[in-house]
Formats: sequence, structure tokens, C-alpha cells
Amino acid sequence: MSENFTGSFTQQEALPEVAIEAAMNVMRHGRLHRYNVVEGELGEAALLEQEFAAQVGAKYCLAVASGGYALATALRAVGVQYGDKVLTNAFTLAPVPGSIAAVGAEPVFVDVSEDLVIDLEDLAAKADQASVLMLSHMRGHLCDMERLMQICDDAGITVIEDCAHTMGAAWKGVPSGRQGAIGCYSCQTYKHVNSGEGGLLVTDDEEVAARAIMLSGSYMLYERHLAAPGPEVFERVKYETPNISGRMDNLRAAILRPQLRELDTQVARWNERYQKLEAGLRDLPGLTLVERPEEETYVGSSIQFLLLDWSAEAVAEVIARCAKRGVELKWFGGAEPKGFTSRYDSWRYAEAQSLPSSDRILAGIVDMRVPLTFSLEDCALIARIIRAEVSGVFQAG
Ligand SMILES: *Cc1c(COP(=O)(O)O)cnc(C)c1O
Repeated sequence: MSENFTGSFTQQEALPEVAIEAAMNVMRHGRLHRYNVVEGELGEAALLEQEFAAQVGAKYCLAVASGGYALATALRAVGVQYGDKVLTNAFTLAPVPGSIAAVGAEPVFVDVSEDLVIDLEDLAAKADQASVLMLSHMRGHLCDMERLMQICDDAGITVIEDCAHTMGAAWKGVPSGRQGAIGCYSCQTYKHVNSGEGGLLVTDDEEVAARAIMLSGSYMLYERHLAAPGPEVFERVKYETPNISGRMDNLRAAILRPQLRELDTQVARWNERYQKLEAGLRDLPGLTLVERPEEETYVGSSIQFLLLDWSAEAVAEVIARCAKRGVELKWFGGAEPKGFTSRYDSWRYAEAQSLPSSDRILAGIVDMRVPLTFSLEDCALIARIIRAEVSGVFQAG
């Protein structure tokens, strides 16, 4: 009798009681719009921004409607225009090239390395093609951030960091999102804090911050922000910055504030689960784990491994066999985008680009979510199932 897993890969934990209480409070007073405050009141959205800025050590923070909105706002705030080219990762998810398309710009894809980070050689080779890099820390893997910043600084490239999978992560102790000019985070249910939808944007650049706040739809009420530059900075940008509404409301902010206070605890719980899975998959012929560099503080909210240079049929067989036993794996090598696993060549609004080295790696990437509703026992069981099925197919091939 083979063992099966019966848990759900999409079930997150319930919100903490303090968050539920905070939400009830906002609903009881009814002032859900972030600028709807009474005399002397500090709104939940403004407080969230102040607290998150302090948490990551940023001067300014803006809460918005989604992570994707934060990315597009960042591009607008640094001045990306219609028709401009923007460098970005070939291995990422659809909201990233989507944010580039949202401003009418064109993505130029940079290769993924076997460590699942942006290929710095390819980045250096393409550095003359654009003046902005939308860097996606896809699936929480951080590249050598010092080398990346060196390449970009030398080439005059502004870096925007997509930290949808790295909220709580760091490179040599520097919080993810703090090396580039702007860091963008998602507070969507499947990320590291959960408000259903939501995003955060941080920066130390006063004009970028002022523009982002105006863009998000501040109705000239920017003085009600607590993590914003002074009014004189807004004076400089207010007539030329359009309102493209995408604010966060006080209800979402209220449920995020207590979650952010617990982030480090949650990160530790994710990593226990990740390490259980990783240990269970070690030293398996045919399967390559992604080794985490010492400089990286990661958040193991998902795990990836490579079935490098396997035939498409064999990878598909592993995915199907694991699915039969209740283990939901996603494959980035599939010809058609399925669920969230689209690839750079599925985004046909972008000019077709040829990235043979990325094609080889994408064809081998297997990805799995690790929700905190999994116990450590669940993780050990999942690893045993993957191990058995990968060996089975590998030996047969
Ligand atoms: C989720 C995600 C985003 C932002 O997503 P929203 O759903 O708009 O909050 C950005 N980049 C990546 C890689 C993501 O997975």
C-alpha cells in the first residue's frame, strides 16, 4: 500500500484573532476609505505604511491595491514611458511582464541561471538595452545582490525589485527590496501576509515616493500620510502626475498590521517545513536541489527542484504520478500556461525572444507551494512521495 497525501496546497491559515478584531473595529466605525479619518485620527493604511517602512528600514512606504499595481506604479514613478524597453527575468510570473505592458513598455527578458536567479552574465550583456530593470526575486531566490547592483550602477540602470516572494527575506542582512531604488511587495492570499489583495511599495527617493502617492490616487490629501516626504516635494510633482487610482483601504491595512508583526515567526515556520522537504529530497539521482547561498535569508514558502535534461514525457509522468498521490507539483516546462505557471514565450504581447539557455532550465523546473497549514509530518510524507515517484520514473528511463 503506498501512502497518499490528502491536504490542500491552496489552504492558508486563518487570520489571527487580533487581525479579525481590528477588521471588526474598522467595520464598526465605517471609515474604510484611507483618507476618511476624524480629527486627530491616524488611519490604518497610514499606520501600516509607517510600520512597514520601519520594519524594512525605508524612508517612505505606500500601501496599494495589489502587488501588480505596485510594480506598474514603480515603473511610472521612475519615468518609464510608452515604448521604452525594460529588462526583466525570463523566469517569473505573469504580473511582472504585465506591469511592463501596463505602462506601454516592452519587456527584454534576461536568462535564468541553474540557481533559479537572474543570470548576471546575460544581464551584463543586455545592460545597454534599457535603463530600468524590473528584478523579480522569483520563488524567493536572491541573486548576488552586490554584483547585480554593481552591474546596474555601472550601466546607469534603475532597479525595481519585485519582492512578491521575498517579503521577510534578506541578502547579507539587508531586507529584500532595499537594494534597488524601489521595492514592491504583494499582500495577496498566496504570499507572506494575507489581505486577499494588496501591495506595498518602499523607497528612499522622495520624488519617487511623492509621485507614487499621487499616482495611487491621493486627491491632494497626501498630508495624511505618515511615511511620505514633505509637502514641498509634492508641490514639485503634483501638476504633472496623473491619478491612477489603486489605493489600499483601512480594512485591509487593519488586518495586515498584526500579520506583519508576526512575519519573522511565520518565516521560521516556513523554513522548518522547507528544510524538512529539502532533507527528504537530498541525494536523489536525477533530481537537482537549488542550494541556498549563505548570504541569503530566505522564506521557504515554496520549494523548487530541477529535473534537468529529462524528457518532457518523463517530467510529465512524475507530475502525474505525484498528483495521483495527492501531491500538487507545478511544471514550468509545459507548452501551455496552466494556473500560474506561464513562461516568457506565453506572453505573446511581448516581442518574441529566443533564450535557449533559459528554455533548458525552465523545461526542468518543478515547483511546489508550502502553505503553513502543512505540518512537519506532512512535509516528510510529501518528500517521501516525490522521492519514490522521481526514482521510479528515473530508473525506468
Ligand atoms: C503574486 C506576484 C506578484 C504580484 O501579484 P498581485 O497578485 O498583483 O498582488 C508579482 N510578482 C510575482 C512573481 C508574483 O508571484
